[in-house]
Amino acid sequence: MSKNYKITLLPGDGIGPEIMQVAVAVLQSIAPKFKLSFSFETALAGGAAIDETGHPLPAETLTLCRESDAVLLAAVGGEKWDSLPSELRPEQALLGLRGGLGLFANLRPAKVLPQLIDASSLKREVVEGVDILVVRELTGGIYFSKPKGIFTDEHGVRRGVNTMAYTEPEIDRIGRVAFEAAQKRQGVLCSVDKANVLEVSQLWRDRIIHLASEYPDVKLSHMYVDNAAMQLLRWPKQFDTIVTGNLFGDILSDAAAMLTGSIGMLPSASLGEPGTPGVFEPVHGSAPDIAGKDLANPLAQVLSAAMMLRYALNESAAADHIEAAVLRVLDSGKRTGDIMAAGCQKLGCKAMGEALLAEVV
Ligand code: NAD
Repeated sequence: MSKNYKITLLPGDGIGPEIMQVAVAVLQSIAPKFKLSFSFETALAGGAAIDETGHPLPAETLTLCRESDAVLLAAVGGEKWDSLPSELRPEQALLGLRGGLGLFANLRPAKVLPQLIDASSLKREVVEGVDILVVRELTGGIYFSKPKGIFTDEHGVRRGVNTMAYTEPEIDRIGRVAFEAAQKRQGVLCSVDKANVLEVSQLWRDRIIHLASEYPDVKLSHMYVDNAAMQLLRWPKQFDTIVTGNLFGDILSDAAAMLTGSIGMLPSASLGEPGTPGVFEPVHGSAPDIAGKDLANPLAQVLSAAMMLRYALNESAAADHIEAAVLRVLDSGKRTGDIMAAGCQKLGCKAMGEALLAEVV
């Protein structure tokens, strides 16, 4: 009997619908091989939702997402909506999803594919074989803790304030996601903090060490964030899985992503409590400059679908199959414009989708 999964699709804006179409076709075509079936429902989010309903994340969309096994999102945003007040801009859909689904863990893989190694700005010997997963806490830390604001004292001097705070339960839940992700990878976890200066980091380190006893198969180490930034550029191959707080993760996940040199190839996952739906999406935006021109690289979207299979649906074999097909397509020299190299064959978004479909069957 085949397992049925209910997936909400949020194609959003710009290149979103084009790349989503490719990812859905790939999922549909691998389904029989792995005895899976998918019930896809498409919902409005971002600028497309503003045009139809006046709101970037309509209540029906959030309800549908909550009732599904996972959410596959493309990208939102575009110039057309840039002059709207901030609470009505397309990007609010992303914040609404994070809040509404309780997505506290952001998983950002940065894998240097042998076929695209020359796209990196670092030397081949430094980046060859890099395969890092950054697990970033997404709903706490300095971006959300209180007090925050700009305050004026009795002398009229203004003071900007943010607070970096984590509670033990907040650290424990992101820690568990990271240990479990490391178990699915090479079993090596580096916790990044600033425990030499920050009390919040001392508590962070204390809890991560405490959790480690539950995961004896994971090798844990700790690194200060300033050193981690240097080490990512100096010798990134030393890292397997990294876990860190919201601010440090924001910066380090972008730095790790740049090791790969190709934004059209990077997927991500945002997860909440076990048993609740996660959101899977490319790292890139809606690329309005190339929207509707059949120029977009659909591979980050397809790899996001693979992450969905792995982390939300526990269908690792299907995820492996899709990732291997992506590598074979690249091996055959097929490229979209953003990853084009000498001697390769340049394809549009649709043709890249067809090439993938030929590989996944
Ligand atoms: P972007 O990622 O959309 O584009 C940056 C550059 O990369 C552009 O030149 C674009 O053509 C190229 N690019 C991006 N994805 C590509 C792909 N799959 N294939 C080929 N080329 C690709 O970033 P931006 O231009 O800063 O933002 C455009 C819009 O997207 C803005 O409205 C922004 O707010 C929004 N945005 C949304 C998300 C999201 O939905 N998660 C993330 C970032 C930006």
